[in-house]
This record gives sequence, structure tokens and C-alpha cells, in this order.
Amino acid sequence: MSPVVVVGAGWAGLSAAVELSERGMPVTLLEAAPVAGGRARSVRHSGRTLDNGQHLLLGAYRDTRALLRRIGVREADVFARMPLELRLHDPQDGDLHLRAGALPGRLHLAQALLGARGLALGERWRWLRAADQLRRQPPPDLTVSAWLAATGQPRRMRRQLWEPLCLAALNTPADTASASVFHRVLDEALASPEHSALYIPSRALGRVLPEPAEGYLRTRGASLRYGARAKSLTIRDGRIAGVTLRNGESIEADTVVLACGPRESTRLLTPHAETAEIADRLGRLEMQPIVTLYLDYGPATRLDPTMQGLLDGPLQWVFDRGQGGEPGLIAGVISGPGEHMNLDNETLVRTAARQLGRLLADPDQYRSAWVVRERLATFAATPAAEALRPAPQTPVRGLWLAGDHLDTGLPATLEGAVRSGLDCAQRLAAADRTAELPEPGAAR
Ligand SMILES: Cc1cc2nc3c(=O)[nH]c(=O)nc-3n(C[C@H](O)[C@H](O)[C@H](O)COP(=O)(O)OP(=O)(O)OC[C@H]3O[C@@H](n4cnc5c(N)ncnc54)[C@H](O)[C@@H]3O)c2cc1C
Repeated sequence: MSPVVVVGAGWAGLSAAVELSERGMPVTLLEAAPVAGGRARSVRHSGRTLDNGQHLLLGAYRDTRALLRRIGVREADVFARMPLELRLHDPQDGDLHLRAGALPGRLHLAQALLGARGLALGERWRWLRAADQLRRQPPPDLTVSAWLAATGQPRRMRRQLWEPLCLAALNTPADTASASVFHRVLDEALASPEHSALYIPSRALGRVLPEPAEGYLRTRGASLRYGARAKSLTIRDGRIAGVTLRNGESIEADTVVLACGPRESTRLLTPHAETAEIADRLGRLEMQPIVTLYLDYGPATRLDPTMQGLLDGPLQWVFDRGQGGEPGLIAGVISGPGEHMNLDNETLVRTAARQLGRLLADPDQYRSAWVVRERLATFAATPAAEALRPAPQTPVRGLWLAGDHLDTGLPATLEGAVRSGLDCAQRLAAADRTAELPEPGAAR
């Protein structure tokens, strides 16, 4: 059996490779970068290991959590887990503080809304009734803003709750974001207190999934190749025949999984008539930025609660990295497009430090700061994008796709990437088995 070649060792490619290896299929993993993890990896930045963007996972990330268990990772070793707590600072309408209750199912959300600090009693009831209106599936062409208006969400609830959550979860502003994707996120994330729990990485991202997955794959004999960029695909008579690397090396393969992100997938698929239509669709996915700022204060500096929201920009969410053994390090996240993209790093850090000064108890002057700009962080989860996202199987026999941009119904998230990788590998393995069956009527 020749190895399945997986192109890209992001969370999607790693998930696909683990699933295939577990099924006894040989795997060769090609990764252009020197390390695994893709957009969710650890990077060296001016002498310090930082995450390529602060990441937050949820209890609802069921496939990611199950995969971590399969490869031997204990959640307690890699996450600080805490019940959902949203503390939002808003100079305009006043602060809001919600803490999820322990009641089962969606009742825990009702409990949070009824116990909200910063809301008058009548407002809490209005919010509760309005939240219930969001349970019904919206039509596929609706934006989040239109859905919130159509379901009568109060103005303050939109501004302080739904719009910031939409931007954080979909990396897409509510006025262009897909209501059906946001509905899916709310449906999964608010299903129970276990689902809405926050999982904040307490170790460098590379040690959460990429490194344990590499170890798991190595013990199963997979070949992992770094600095190996796929330059082109060879397709013959409607079948995949191999991959050529940038250094000129040709690798023959009858099964290839492209898990190299939407832009690179577009480039590799465009030259082939059989895949030109998928390439065209992927090429039309609009990409959105995420900027993460890390500010290192003295070890005495704390943020309580660990994650807090800000409505007066540029920082939208801030995280205390002290939970991960980095006391005094604060990460600030800015999702989506905006004016901040025109600011230089120095100005951005100065503005962020002023915002943080209001939240931190006794803040010293920060000692150092790093800015990580991902201009192509995720695709914009708009209604138009939903119609463009492809399925894992391509018209080319043996050529499969994986990645957060596949048609999972989820936004571009770690869970979307993992689900797509697992789904791709399962379908590929099933198709492989079908191909092994004798033709009807053939001698057995
Ligand atoms: C700053 C930032 C913050 C985020 N925050 C969150 C969050 O809080 N929660 C959450 O769930 N998600 C978050 N995300 C989204 C999440 O990181 C992505 O959805 C996920 O990592 C995508 O994984 P992937 O495997 O689909 O793609 P990628 O991670 O892009 O993996 C593709 C891999 O393919 C490799 N590659 C590319 N071209 C080639 C080639 N030609 N040959 C070989 N290899 C190639 C790349 O180097 C890369 O390793 C965030 C993303 C960013 C950028």
C-alpha cells in the first residue's frame, strides 16, 4: 500500500494523518514550514516563544477534545478550564458581567442572563426572551445583523453580547457574517455548561496538539517531512499521480489530502481542468485578519477574570497568560478588519496599553511588547462563503481536501479544522475500501 500524502501539518492535516494512521494506512506528511501547527502554532519572537495568536477553545470542541484523548493528551495538562464568564467593559452603556450557571442544558444561559450584573431586572427578562428567539434556524442568506433585527434582539444586547461574540467566533463583523454559521456556533456552544466552558491553552499551542500528534504519528511509522513545500500536483487521466516539491523532488502517490489552507489549495488546484471549478470557489473566499498583542508586565500583574472583553477598541478581548505559567503576560486580540490595520506597531501597543491600564490592578509600565499580525487569519464567514466551501472529495480520483475552509458549517476554528481532517480521512478510508471490493460479477 503506497502512503497517503497529506500536504500541510496544520490541525486539519494532523487530524487527518492521525485518523489514517490509526486505521493502519501509511502516511507521509509534507509541511512547508519548519514546525507543525499552521496558523495555531508556537513561534519564536524576539527571543520568546509565543503563540501565533491567542487561541480559545470551548467545551463544545468535541472532536478536538476526543482527538487529544486519543493521542494521549490530558486536558488538565494543556488547558486552564473555567465556566463561561463574560465581563465586558463598555464606557458607553455601562459594563456587563455574565457568569454561566450550573443548571443543565440551555438553562445555564438563562441563569447567566437572570443573574447578569449591569442590567436592570426588566432588561434581564427582555434579554432572556430575546435569546430564546435565536434557537430557530435562520435562512442561509441572512446576515447576523439582519437576523438579530428580525428576532427583536434589544439594542444593548446586540452591541454588548451578540456582535462581539459573532466577531470573536466568526472573525467576521455581524453586518456581513452568516446568521446560519453563528446559529450553529450558539447552538453547539450554549448546549450545556460543559459545552460553554472556556478552555484557555496553558502551554504553548505547539504543545497542545501539534507536538503530541507528531509523536503519535512517528510511533505509527508515519514519515514527517518539514521544509517540504508542495509546488504542484500531477493528475493523469482523472487520477492523482503525485506531488512535486519546490526543490524539484517528485513523490508518486495515488492518494493525496490537500490540507494546506485555502490560498495554497487554490494555487495547487488552479492549473488542472478537473479542479479548476473548486479552485475558483476557494479563490473567492475573502480572508480576514487577526492581530494579537502581547504585553509583558511585571509578574505581580493580574487580570481577574482571566478573559475580559472591551467595547471601546482597538483591543476586543484580553487574556491573562499567568494561568499558563507566564505571570504578567497579557494577550490582547483584535479580530476582523478595521482602522487598527493602518496603525504601526508602536502606536497600536501604546493605545492597547492605555486600554489595559483601566483593567489591570496596579499595572506597572509594560516591559516589552510583541505584535503578531495575521493578515490572512481566516476566511470571512459570510452567507456567500457558505455557498463556496467545498466538500472533501474532489472530481479527481484519490485527491481529497481538508481544512477549516471545508463545508463543515462551522466558522474557521480549530474544531472546524479538526472535524474536517477527521471527516476527510474517514471518507477516504471508506472510499478506499469500496475500491478494493471486486466488481459485481467478478470471480472472488
Ligand atoms: C491569530 C489567530 C487566532 C485564532 N484564534 C482562534 C481561536 O481562538 N479559536 C479557534 O478555534 N480558532 C482560532 N483561529 C483559527 C484556527 O487557528 C484555524 O482555523 C486553524 O488553525 C486552521 O487549521 P488548518 O489546518 O485548516 O489550516 P492551517 O493552520 O493554515 O494549516 C495549513 C498548513 O499547510 C502548510 N502549507 C501551506 N502550503 C503548503 C504547501 N504548498 N506544501 C506543504 N505545506 C503547506 C502551512 O504551513 C500550514 O502548516 C485563529 C487563527 C488565527 C490566525
